[in-house]
Amino acid sequence: MATNTPMMEQYLRLKAAHPDAILFFHLGDFYEAFFEDAETLARELDVVLTSRNGNPMAGVPIRRGESYVNALLKRGYKVAICRQMEDPAKATGLVKREVVRVVTPGTALDDGVLDAGQNNYLCAVYRDGSGFGLAALDLSTGEFTATAAADQDTLTGELARLAPSEILLTSELNDEFAGLVPGAVTILPKQQFDPRRVPDGQFGLPEPALCAAGAVLAYVEETQKGLVAHIQRLRPYNLATRMDIDPFTMRNLELVKPLREGEDRGTLLHVLDKTATGMGRRYLRRAILAPLLDRDKIEARLDAVATLAADEIVQQTLTAALANMHDLERLTGKLGAGRMGPLNLLLLEKSLDQLPAVARTLTAIGTLPPLLAAIAHDLSDPGITALQAAVSGMLVDQPPADARDGGLIRPGFDESLDRLHEEIRAIRAQIAALEQKERARTGISSLKVGYNRVFGYYIEVTKTHLSQVPPDYHRRQTLANAERFIIDELKGYEQRIALAQERAVALELELFTQALDRMRAEIPLLQRAAHAVAKLDFLLSLAVVARRNRYVRPRFTDRHTLAIKAGRHPVVELVEEFVPNDLALSEGTDVAIITGPNMSGKSVYLRQAALICLMAQIGSFVPATDAELPLLDRIFARVGASDMLVSGISTFMMEMLETATILNRATAASLVILDEMGRGTSTYDGLSIAWAVAKELATHIRAKTLFATHYQELTRLADELPTVTNLHVAVQEVGKEVVFLHRVEPGVAAGSYGVHVARLAGLPDRVTAQAEAVLAEFLAHAPRGPHPEHTGSDAQPVSLFGPEDHPVMKRLRKVDPNTLTPLAALELLFQLKEEL
Ligand code: ADP
Ligand code: MG
Repeated sequence: MATNTPMMEQYLRLKAAHPDAILFFHLGDFYEAFFEDAETLARELDVVLTSRNGNPMAGVPIRRGESYVNALLKRGYKVAICRQMEDPAKATGLVKREVVRVVTPGTALDDGVLDAGQNNYLCAVYRDGSGFGLAALDLSTGEFTATAAADQDTLTGELARLAPSEILLTSELNDEFAGLVPGAVTILPKQQFDPRRVPDGQFGLPEPALCAAGAVLAYVEETQKGLVAHIQRLRPYNLATRMDIDPFTMRNLELVKPLREGEDRGTLLHVLDKTATGMGRRYLRRAILAPLLDRDKIEARLDAVATLAADEIVQQTLTAALANMHDLERLTGKLGAGRMGPLNLLLLEKSLDQLPAVARTLTAIGTLPPLLAAIAHDLSDPGITALQAAVSGMLVDQPPADARDGGLIRPGFDESLDRLHEEIRAIRAQIAALEQKERARTGISSLKVGYNRVFGYYIEVTKTHLSQVPPDYHRRQTLANAERFIIDELKGYEQRIALAQERAVALELELFTQALDRMRAEIPLLQRAAHAVAKLDFLLSLAVVARRNRYVRPRFTDRHTLAIKAGRHPVVELVEEFVPNDLALSEGTDVAIITGPNMSGKSVYLRQAALICLMAQIGSFVPATDAELPLLDRIFARVGASDMLVSGISTFMMEMLETATILNRATAASLVILDEMGRGTSTYDGLSIAWAVAKELATHIRAKTLFATHYQELTRLADELPTVTNLHVAVQEVGKEVVFLHRVEPGVAAGSYGVHVARLAGLPDRVTAQAEAVLAEFLAHAPRGPHPEHTGSDAQPVSLFGPEDHPVMKRLRKVDPNTLTPLAALELLFQLKEEL
C-alpha cells in the first residue's frame, strides 16, 4: 500500500484495536467502512461499493446507521461505532475520532434487534477443577445471574434454556465444545475471567461462576465504553432448585419452540401466553423452562393464580392497565446505558403512570395471597410515586427523538423556560409591528419583514420601490426582482431572539438531563417495580388461561402416585374436539405400556401427562377435572422417531443418546415418557432395547413411566413385573372401517390396524387387500403366542432373544446403564450389533 493519509492512519489504528468487528467510521454524514469491512457491507446488505485512493469503501448515512448495525448483528457480526469527537468545522487538522461503542449480539440494546418476548443473554462459561461456572447477563434489562454446573450435561441443559445470543469462552473451552454451544462465540483471554471484577464479593458462588461473571463485566466494559448504570447485583442461583429439563425434552414437548419451524401455535408457551407486556412474556418463558421444585413456592404461585382467576372483572381491569404499560425493564436498561431520549422518557413516564391504578386494583380485591401482596407493595412504593410526579407533565405529546433539538418540554412545566418563550413571543410581536412602522415611514406599502435560515431577518423591497429605501437600510441579499435589507432595530431583535432561543434549548436540555439523573438515581427502584409488573403479568396470564380453558388447580401428594381425571392436551384441545382421558399410576404401579393403532392418540396421551405435570410445577392450573400429582424432580420426554438429521447424527444414534440421558439421570421422583422407542432401527434391535429400557425403568429406577409402543410383545412385561401395567387406546371396528375413539383403557390393544390406516390414507384397494392377506399369513405363522410361559421372577423373554447364554445377552446383563456415558452406551450398542 502507498503511504497513507493521516486519516487513513487513524482508521487503521482504530481498526487494529477492534479486529473482529466491522468498523463504522464517522465521516461527515456517513459511516464509512473500508477494505474487507466494505466488501462485507456490500455483500450482506447491498451497500454500494466505491473506492477511495484505490481501496474498497462503502458508506451508510448516519441517520440510518442503527438499522444497518441491527441488520449486521442479526447476521452474526459485531460493529464498532467510531464517532467524530469534535466538530470538523472547528477542528484544526485531523478530526478526533473514537470508538464509542462496540455492538455485539449479546450486548444489543436496540429494539430493532431485540425480541420483545425473549431475554437477550450474554453468557460466559469458565471451568476449573471443581466444575463449570456460568454467568448470564441481559444487558437490555440488567438481569445478571450466575450458577455452577457440576458436569457438561447440566451446563448444556442450562445453556439451551438461556439460549444466549453470545457466549464468552476461553479458547480451550471453545475447542472442547466445538461449536456445540448456542449463540455467537467470542473468545476471551483467560485473564479476563477474573473473579475480582465482581463487586462486593459474592458469597455462596463457587470460583468458576465468579470467573465467568468477571468475564461478562469485563466484556461489557470493553464494548460499552461508558455508562452502564443498570446492571443488577449478581444474583446466584442453584440449578438444583429448578426442575432439570434437558434439551431433548424441551424440544420434544414443544415447550417454547415448535418441532416444525413456523408452527408456533403448537407450543405450550403460546397456549399460556396471554401476557400484555414483553416483560411478562419473558417471565413466562423463563418460568416454563424452569419449573419449581419447592412445593411452598409452587403453592404460592397457585394461590395468586387462584385469586386472579376468581374474578373476571379484576382480570380485565388489570389486563387493560398492563396493556398501556411499555417495557419498563428495557426502558430502565436504556436509562442505565445512557441511551434514553425524550421519546423513551415519555414512555417510561406513561408506564409509571399506570402503576398506582394497578396497585389499587389489586388491593381492592381484599386479602391478598403473599405473592400478590408483595407485588402491590412494590408497585405503590412512595419512591415510584415521587419519581412519576417529578416527570409527569414534563414532556410534550410528540417530543423530538433528540433532546438537543429542543421543543420537548411542555409549557407550564418550568417558569424560567416559560419566561424565555414569553420573551421570544414579545420580540416576534415587535418584529411584526416593525413592518407596519416601516411601511408608514417609507411609504412602501408592499414592504415585507421576513426570515430565512441563511440570512436571518430581513426587510424585502421590490425593485420598483428601491428608490424609496432610506439610507439606514443595509443590503443583505439580492433577488431577481427584490432586494432584502437589514436595519439596526431589526438586527437587535434578531440577536435577542437568537439569544433567548439558545438559552431555551440549553434550559430544556438541562431539565431533561436533570430528569434523567433523577430517574437514574432510582434505577433499583424502577427495576423492582418492573419486576413486579412482569410477575403480575405472568400470574395474570396463567389466571386468564385457567379461566378461559377451564383448567383446575393441581394438588400435590407426597405419595408416589399420579392421578389425572379427564386430562386434556393443552394445545390439541384448542384445535379439535378432544376426548379427555384419565391416568392413574398408583403407588406400586410405575410403568404403563401403551399400545394402540397408529393415529389413535398414544403420543398425545403421553405428552398431555408430561405437560400437565410441568404446568403444575410452574404454578399453572392444568387441563383436567382433577389432578393429584407427585412433586417431580425431572421430566423426560423421548418422543417420536423423527426423521430429522441433526448435525449428521442418525435418528437411531439420536434416540440412543436421548435414552442414555434418561437412564443415567432419572430417579423414582421423575416422569419419563417414551414414545415409540426403537423405531429407528431394525425390529429386533428396537424391541430388545425397548424391552431392556422399560425393564430398567420398572425395576431399578422406578420412575413413573409412560411407554407407548408398536411392539405388542412389550405388553408381556406386565405379566412379569408387578410395577408394569398395560393400557391401550380403544378403537371401534365398523365393518372394515376403524373409528378412532381416542379413549385410553386398561389392557392390551387387539391389533395394530396399520392396514386400516393405510386404507384411510387412500392406498389403492388392491394394495390394502394384498397387505391384509400378507398380514394374515404372518400372524398365522407367528412363532409364539402373546403370552409365553415364564421361568421365575427374573424371567427373560427367552423365546424372543434366543438361547439364554447368547454372548450378547450375557454382556447386556452385566451392563449397568446408570454408569454409562451416552458415548459409551453407543459404543456398546455398536459392539453388540457386531456380535449379533
Ligand atoms: P398415535 O401416537 O397413536 O399415532 P397421536 O397421539 O399422534 O396418535 O394422535 C393422532 C391424532 O389423533 C392427533 O393428531 C389428534 O388429532 C388426534 N387425537 C389424539 N388424541 C386425541 C384425543 N384424546 N381427543 C381427540 N383427538 C385426539
Ligand atoms: Mg405416536
